[in-house]
Amino acid sequence: MIQRWLGTVCATVLMGLTGPGSPAQAAESLPGVVVFTTGGTIQSKGAHRQKLSEYSDGRVTPLELLADLPELSEIARVEVREVSNLGSGNMTTELQLKLAKGINEALSRPDVAGAVVTHGTGTLEETAYFLHLVVRSEKPVVVVGAMRPWSAISRDGPLNLYNAVRTAVTPEAVGKGVFVLLDDTIHSARWVTKGNTTRVETFVSREIGPLGYADADKVVFYRTPLTRHTAKSEFDVSTLTNLPPVDVVYGYQEASAEPLKALVTAGAAGIVLADGSPAVTQALLGAVSKGVAVVQSDRKGSGRVLLSERQAGRGVVTADSLNAQKARILLRVALTKTKEPRELQRIFNEY
Ligand code: ASP
Repeated sequence: MIQRWLGTVCATVLMGLTGPGSPAQAAESLPGVVVFTTGGTIQSKGAHRQKLSEYSDGRVTPLELLADLPELSEIARVEVREVSNLGSGNMTTELQLKLAKGINEALSRPDVAGAVVTHGTGTLEETAYFLHLVVRSEKPVVVVGAMRPWSAISRDGPLNLYNAVRTAVTPEAVGKGVFVLLDDTIHSARWVTKGNTTRVETFVSREIGPLGYADADKVVFYRTPLTRHTAKSEFDVSTLTNLPPVDVVYGYQEASAEPLKALVTAGAAGIVLADGSPAVTQALLGAVSKGVAVVQSDRKGSGRVLLSERQAGRGVVTADSLNAQKARILLRVALTKTKEPRELQRIFNEY
């Protein structure tokens, strides 16, 4: 596993444009953007250009990504930091914490206007929501990926990355938290989910819709997220090296209670239920009595899980409109502050 900072590489330096009165000097006045690379399809290659779904992650280096986009030097001074070069199924808490700390450090610099993160689309929404909760800055953070490998005919990665950097330097993007951007569409990390296995328009914010678009003429916003995030968040991961373990239990007809019981025995600090069954409901009472935090989410993909006096009386927290994988992220972060169900519910209501 590659885990190293590449250090600072300006796009202008990549192109060799230096000297007094040169484009490099003009570039000094451009806003700074730090691109953190983690891997995914945007950094993958297949055996030939027609291979749209068979390819290997970890094949395109951060420098190749930037060298492919000389146009970036016209809009920003781009620095790149490699966090990893992995498929997003391999993303770890350790890497996410390293990423969050690196972004917080970069955004504290006055010369940096925003940050961009490359990520595999499979679990992209989880990392994006995690950053939405723990980045402590008003400056934009844009998480970007691709649905087609770098080697493919009509690959989508370069335009997505170019649009991500454009968005990161857009003044209207300030204070709106972390974004996910693919297919010219800007989503809030709070609402976005991957909704399709293969299509380039896979990311959707069901019910709520996107925040805006990165169009050819300009980056345009039509709305702003109202839940708490980034600069207004109460969460601080600066000294953390791990997060409490939380797992998800999926519900279906006659779902067995055994997975839930096994996870509790294995030491889960929290369980998120994506729906349930009578047996699971019975078992969760045992989990709560052992001090395990239980959050009720749903498997339908949209809509709120409503607050209910009966669930609150059992010590069960409701996930509002967070899907199970994102409720898991919030519960892990929330458990760094409290295990108390009413306080956890307050957090789920606010974030
Ligand atoms: N295999 C990829 C991942 O890392 C899928 C993608 O990036 O689209 O999740």
